[in-house]
Amino acid sequence: VPGKDSTTNLARIKVVVRKRPLNKKEVARKEEDIVTIDGSGSSLTVHEPKLKVDLTAYVEKHDFVFDAVLDEQVSNDEVYRVTVQPIIPTIFQRTKATCFAYGQTGSGKTYTMQPLPLRACQDMLDLMQHPVYKNEGFQLWLSFFEIYGGKLFDLLTDRRKLCMREDGRQQVCIVGLKEYPVSNVEVVKEFIEKGNASRSTGSTGANEESSRSHAILQLVIKKHSNKKEERGGKLVGKFSFIDLAGSERGADTTDNDRQTRIEGAEINKSLLALKECIRALDHEQGHIPFRGSKLTEVLRDSFVGDSRTVMISCISPNTGSCEHTLNTLRYADRVK
Ligand code: ADP
Ligand code: MG
Repeated sequence: VPGKDSTTNLARIKVVVRKRPLNKKEVARKEEDIVTIDGSGSSLTVHEPKLKVDLTAYVEKHDFVFDAVLDEQVSNDEVYRVTVQPIIPTIFQRTKATCFAYGQTGSGKTYTMQPLPLRACQDMLDLMQHPVYKNEGFQLWLSFFEIYGGKLFDLLTDRRKLCMREDGRQQVCIVGLKEYPVSNVEVVKEFIEKGNASRSTGSTGANEESSRSHAILQLVIKKHSNKKEERGGKLVGKFSFIDLAGSERGADTTDNDRQTRIEGAEINKSLLALKECIRALDHEQGHIPFRGSKLTEVLRDSFVGDSRTVMISCISPNTGSCEHTLNTLRYADRVK
């Protein structure tokens, strides 16, 4: 039976690292690949180039161990199999799951994240057709929004501004967020493209502004008692896919531009709060510090009860990214 008992041996938190290949520019600049991954598939070493006071060069090695470490040869299909796919059946058993892509701008977060909901949708739709679930009245819904400067915007409805409310039972409600019913992956593909195209471009119109926002795509399974009923329905499970703001943006707090500083502070706050919430989850603490940021407040109901969290830490392999890469790995290390 699909899904039955599949939750029991799944870790609540899984931390995976994905390394992207050196790109053409980095190769042209003769940058080196300073990240090596050993055959075990769970550990890696960063070879940090350093200089002594007398200017002789040496290399400092930093070793890390995670649940899985994926090298530059690994396909998006394989990433899906390692991270998201094992959790899919649990969504049919009232689990709330979240998959994050964390890392500096240019490390491969969007490249990694974009195809995941598509594959998840296919698997969910297939499972819904299984004899066990076929007559349950399940319907799959999709929404896509972003958090930018601490504010929420609907990415599928002309960036309409949204607000968050909590009902008496600590359920999060995002007022005005449009949910669309989905019954095939083609529509999902269109939604993802549309949503990504309307991600924040800021006043400069520069596309890299999207690195200052968190994009959240949610797939929700609801149970409808009446087949004809389009609205309503009771929540069964939820899978959130989160393409986080560039981790280096949290350091923009000394920038000359005031707006950039405010956004940097917000990003810093949210990534710290996220780390604390995931750590609290792992230690089964009663108190989870959701209130630390908009991001964690929005995800509140995904952290309580039977939840699953996957963190995909994306890293760039080049010498010039060494400091950011080490920061990303240390963050991931604190979460695991
Ligand atoms: P981010 O969202 O973290 O800023 P992107 O996902 O936009 O980074 O990736 C930056 C560039 O690197 C893109 O051109 C992307 O196609 C490429 N890239 C990222 N990861 C990989 C990978 N694993 N294999 C091949 N190309 C990749
Ligand atoms: Mg991106």
